[in-house]
Amino acid sequence: MRKRLLLFDIDGTLIHSGGAGVHALIAAFRERFGITDDLRGIEIAGMTDSGIVTSILKKHNIPATTENVSAFLDSYVHFLSLELPRREGKLLPGVLELLEELKSRPHLVLALLTGNVSRGAQLKLEHYGVWHLFEFGAFADDHQDRNQLGSFARARAREKHGREFSASQIDVIGDTPRDIACGKAIGARTIAVATGKWSREQLAEHQPDFLIDDLSNVNEIIDTLGW
Ligand SMILES: [Mg+2]
Repeated sequence: MRKRLLLFDIDGTLIHSGGAGVHALIAAFRERFGITDDLRGIEIAGMTDSGIVTSILKKHNIPATTENVSAFLDSYVHFLSLELPRREGKLLPGVLELLEELKSRPHLVLALLTGNVSRGAQLKLEHYGVWHLFEFGAFADDHQDRNQLGSFARARAREKHGREFSASQIDVIGDTPRDIACGKAIGARTIAVATGKWSREQLAEHQPDFLIDDLSNVNEIIDTLGW
């Protein structure tokens, strides 16, 4: 059977963390660098965690050295574990049902392509009970530029499955123009979901191959996408 590799974004696509991510960044920056910043004006959605902390450091003229970025991210992960249970986040509509249905289909490989660092991705998805449904992922640990992450995911799929997934056998599912761009960067099929900050109309401007309001119509989505 022809296998397909499905690469899911996390925030705004599978979950809303109820602000846990942003509050963890604010707390980490305060703890490590002694500065309180509400992070307004910092681009977050669709960015990688390493890209986000780099732009926060630069905004405050702190050198974005490997040491500073690592220290910031370590502290972020610590605060994220505290913030997740405090905030009213949620799994987005249809996500659990869709993932469980896809997981039961042996020709589909479920993996992550996310700007989260891997430890953050695991904390978030374990908190919402879906981490175990993914085989592997490409994360901010792999590269600061999201457009480079597709090739890491593809290499990991090759290691795990002993076969190459061609571009036409890969789907990238996400809620921001950056997800669409990183999917297109590897020639994958792109599926935009309007459950994040971007509206259907805004996402349409970036010409995803498919555009859906949310993941709740599980059977229809599976039919439409040929999964
Ligand atoms: Mg997202």
